[in-house]
Amino acid sequence: MESWLKYTDEDKRRLIFGSESASDPAKAYDKKRTVHAGIRGKGVEAEKTMSVWQGEMNAKPSFEDACVYINIPFCQTKCTYCGFFKNLSDAALIDDYTESLTGEIRSAKGSPLYSHGRVRAVYIGGGTPGTLSARQIESVLRAVNESLPLSNDCEITFETRTYQFGDDKIKACADNGVNRFSLGVQSFDTKARRAIGRVDSGEKVMEMVQKLICLKEASVSLDFIFGLPHQSVETFLSDIQTADCLGVDGMALYQLNVFEGGKMDEGIKSGRTEAVPETARQYEYHSAAHEMLTDMGYSQLSMSHWVNGTLDRSIYNRFTKSGCILHAFGAGAGGRTENYGYFIHPAVTPYNMMRAKGIKPVIGLSEKSPMSCLYEFINGQMDTGILRFDTAERLFGIDLKTVFRPLTDSWEKRGLASVGEKTMKLLPAGQFWYVNMTQALLDILEMINSRGAYEPPVDKIAAQG
Ligand code: SF4
Repeated sequence: MESWLKYTDEDKRRLIFGSESASDPAKAYDKKRTVHAGIRGKGVEAEKTMSVWQGEMNAKPSFEDACVYINIPFCQTKCTYCGFFKNLSDAALIDDYTESLTGEIRSAKGSPLYSHGRVRAVYIGGGTPGTLSARQIESVLRAVNESLPLSNDCEITFETRTYQFGDDKIKACADNGVNRFSLGVQSFDTKARRAIGRVDSGEKVMEMVQKLICLKEASVSLDFIFGLPHQSVETFLSDIQTADCLGVDGMALYQLNVFEGGKMDEGIKSGRTEAVPETARQYEYHSAAHEMLTDMGYSQLSMSHWVNGTLDRSIYNRFTKSGCILHAFGAGAGGRTENYGYFIHPAVTPYNMMRAKGIKPVIGLSEKSPMSCLYEFINGQMDTGILRFDTAERLFGIDLKTVFRPLTDSWEKRGLASVGEKTMKLLPAGQFWYVNMTQALLDILEMINSRGAYEPPVDKIAAQG
């Protein structure tokens, strides 16, 4: 069962095992390797896309739970670190887009795919959903509530920045079923915020967070990034402390990705932006925050998400990490049926034109691997920090403990994981590297599956070294 080792040359071994001689967990791998762990599906030829998609839309589905992602591809300004920016906000374009989007959501009613099962979580993300006006927010949410089979306890998350997110927009969310706000704060430190292109001061952001908490209509979760310009470990911990004092329900802590050739990378290389900590130093931020939140009594919902109490359930993130059916709406959104991943046209004008003809603007499909259920299981489990070998054996008839042993032995020796009879647990150091570690497990299975033809992916996301 250790046959996969024969498919690894020196370079592949380095990607999968990392630095085997490093005793310092901060250097267990060279860099973060991919944004998310996963195995890409096989692309469907462009000329077959529409007919395959029609088949998927009309096939009799067998799933029970689904999530919904709605994309709002506009932002008021572009943040320097961002790999997801699409369009600067433009009132006329947003107006046309909202009309197309609500039409797309409403057309889901009655379709075999979209009306099946129960939608357990809706996530309105982007971009910046807060670029919509109050009236537009209301019309999107009404379309969601009136057209999709939402479960009684459906989590409806509205993601936004605080900039230009006024009382009328908050009211439109609260009056139309939003029960979770996810705010991309990144840092309360005004200097760090300005260095990444954020407009509001830290104080203004705190006021907004307080306002949303006092509303008592929705849970409030904040996203923070560690490793930003002008951010020390102390200022990062002080952000966490501030969020706790404000009384947030949850916090997600993300490692800064510096995309090679991106605005931040160029800024650092030209000296316009202060240099940011290298990957090994990001580890210090991560472990200090882990220790602090544990001491404060927070519980860990996933490798990045910490909660205080039970109001922030983060259902969308947990379900989608485990590979549940994902219905996608809006330009640039990506979804999943039982057999395919799909992508909606990312450019707003062609998207609007296709919607005007009543077409679902799917422009790309990728066929899921026959192993996708196992991959999704591993991905979901690793995100909780515990991989259950006994459950994998029961569900998939595969002895993962034996298959992965050469790698998991190495992780144990380096303090990244502890392996028991039925489970492997990620230790705090392993939690920092969990994307690389999850990707390594998937790489191994895909190498076996393809008899060595598979090449492990490398995204250029850690240009800071
Ligand atoms: S608001 Fe979000 S999506 Fe928009 S540029 Fe900033 S990070 Fe990117």
